[in-house]
Amino acid sequence: MTDIESNDNTAEGTVDTLKEELFTSLLSYGKPYNMERIGEAYEYAKSLHEGQTRKSGEPYIVHPVAVAEIAASLGLDTDSIVAALLHDTVEDCGDKTDLHEISVRFGPVVAELVDGLTKMVSINVEDKKSQQVENVRKMLLAMSKDIRVIFIKLCDRLHNMRTLGVREESKQRSVALETMYVYAPLAHRLGIQKIKQELERLALSYLDPIGYAEVSDYIEKKYGQNRDFIESIQEEIGKKLSEYDIRFTLEGRVKTVFSIYNKMYNQKKNFDEIYDFYAVRIIVDTELECYTALGIIHELYKSMPGRFKDYISTPKPNMYQSLHTTVIGKDGIPFEVQIRTKAMHQVAEYGIAAHWKYKSGEQSKAEIDRKLQWISKLIETEDETRDPDEFMNALKIDVYHDEKFVFTPKGDLIALPQDATIIDFAYAIHSEVGHRMVGAKINGVITPIDSCPKNGEIVEILTSSAAKGPSRDWLKIAATSEARGKIRAWFKKERRAENILVGKNEIDREMAKFAHEITDAQKNDIVVTVAKRIGIQTADDLYNTLGYGGISITKIAPKLRDEYDRVAAKSETPHENITVDQVQTTQKKLKSSSGIIVDGVAGMQVKFAKCCNPLPGDPVIGFITKGYGISIHKRDCPNVVGAMSAPGADPDRWVTAHWDESDVRPSDLYEALLQIYAKNSMTIIAEITGILADMKVSLLQIMTKKQTEDDIIINLKIACKDMRHYNSIVSRLRGIKDVERITRGYN
Ligand code: MN
Repeated sequence: MTDIESNDNTAEGTVDTLKEELFTSLLSYGKPYNMERIGEAYEYAKSLHEGQTRKSGEPYIVHPVAVAEIAASLGLDTDSIVAALLHDTVEDCGDKTDLHEISVRFGPVVAELVDGLTKMVSINVEDKKSQQVENVRKMLLAMSKDIRVIFIKLCDRLHNMRTLGVREESKQRSVALETMYVYAPLAHRLGIQKIKQELERLALSYLDPIGYAEVSDYIEKKYGQNRDFIESIQEEIGKKLSEYDIRFTLEGRVKTVFSIYNKMYNQKKNFDEIYDFYAVRIIVDTELECYTALGIIHELYKSMPGRFKDYISTPKPNMYQSLHTTVIGKDGIPFEVQIRTKAMHQVAEYGIAAHWKYKSGEQSKAEIDRKLQWISKLIETEDETRDPDEFMNALKIDVYHDEKFVFTPKGDLIALPQDATIIDFAYAIHSEVGHRMVGAKINGVITPIDSCPKNGEIVEILTSSAAKGPSRDWLKIAATSEARGKIRAWFKKERRAENILVGKNEIDREMAKFAHEITDAQKNDIVVTVAKRIGIQTADDLYNTLGYGGISITKIAPKLRDEYDRVAAKSETPHENITVDQVQTTQKKLKSSSGIIVDGVAGMQVKFAKCCNPLPGDPVIGFITKGYGISIHKRDCPNVVGAMSAPGADPDRWVTAHWDESDVRPSDLYEALLQIYAKNSMTIIAEITGILADMKVSLLQIMTKKQTEDDIIINLKIACKDMRHYNSIVSRLRGIKDVERITRGYN
């Protein structure tokens, strides 16, 4: 927030005192600051802001100095203090300086910090959904390569909030909203309780002045009534701790206005229901003493059940460690006790900053990167109750590396993968925006729709109701499966006739590769059979699906080849095939729609692929067909292996699947195919059917094929419960004298 008014009444006198005060305050932290560099930065910033004043009428330099002082209170390093002093110069001082100049004077690290601070966009979060706000937080992080940018930004925001009173009312509201929804949570994720609490308190006082006053009055009154209460319990506790020879610091306090406000208004509680209105904090030297102190407290006071929390053995993801318990003091007044060590207290107050000791040159880049990832995870995580070990393990994944954040002209943020194009952006806004797109602008400049917008850029999609709809090329340009799905859906719906032509063409081209000419009837036979094999009803439907891109030609090419071989073989050497079709149909309905968990979701509509007929117990995988639900294949089905490695494979359409043991009942039956290689004998069929009847296995189909005079192949389709059942059937069949071997599935 850098609204500036020109003013010639620079108060020279104030400025010198200001520098002295800054130096005194920096030195008080006992850190080895480079005062010479800080002094130079101060003088430079002062000269650049010369003549500018803040809304309050103070010289502008007061603000960067205050920000630098807050930064020092967080323990930030010399570079950060220098950057804090310079943070508004590039943006607000016109042509007087630029990043290059700052880099020359103060080094590239400072220049990068100032750059990050300058680029931080201010976003109007009013009426925005929580996802939007989460995106803003993520974007702030993604845009700042160096976490110190966020720390300095928080300091900047804190000072702006402290001085918000002089701004106009509408500005107060939007700044306070942004603070409440973006910056206070950021401070919380970084574990900087001190800044978080002050930001929340200040923001609340602007957002709901009446509620704020009500709660603070209440606190004042209640505290006034019980002024002795906290003092007396502190005395009691102190006396007892001394008896145990524990060194300690005691703090008695009431909860913050915001936390009480929050409990009352958001959790709809009355003042009487707030148990931890009073709190006592005990700070000791060692972890062991924390538990000793806890024992003492529970001995002194009756504890409230269910209110004890051990964040020492299980720290919060933002590294917070402490013991919490609520006990009942005299007159039945409950109060919360927090117990922690000095080191834990440092972390609680200053969070990650407490661990963030930047000493230039001492940390390797890898070390810094590791910390940055750590922090990015911190900021990302919503769930505070997560197991920290698991959390630490998850840190290795860089969450933002692959994401970028692009604005709509209205200021909405769209999260996209790094390689996403304008087409992806348009479809991410709405399908209709994508379908009607005729052009686009990035930051106001007309740009081709295949270009990739960068983090933080504003993209405007130009639409026309006369637009002819997407082009097929967009399928190749779009980087997200969402956009491609929507484009395909459009073609599927709007362009069936055209799709059929496109698809037919593709198949004709593929079949032109075959060795022999085939008749139109044969061709039709091949296409229909292939269509049925992949669950599509008619040849036209298959052409249409190919045409809108619902399936790729590379996926069906092997099947076309199979069927071609079959047809070609039939016409060359007429086999003496004996076919006994549909010998017996099972009375039990085959299970076809459940028993499978797809992508973690149970009870989804699935069908079992006819090419491999998976059985419970088989490792499986799902394929999202266009419009025909999810088909479940065996993990090692040749079609799966082929389709996944084929050029143009769409890995997005393969989803994890596994059997839902709890949903597979003993009465459920699945189709299983098996192929028996045997010596041709008079009794072989009778022996097989005899065993199946004996085992009460339904025979769905039996088909025999003569190999040679002596050898025969028997294809069986049976109804099976699961792999174990299947194996028991196969082992019985193997017992037949003439059976040579049995394989699963038809070849
Ligand atoms: Mn500022």
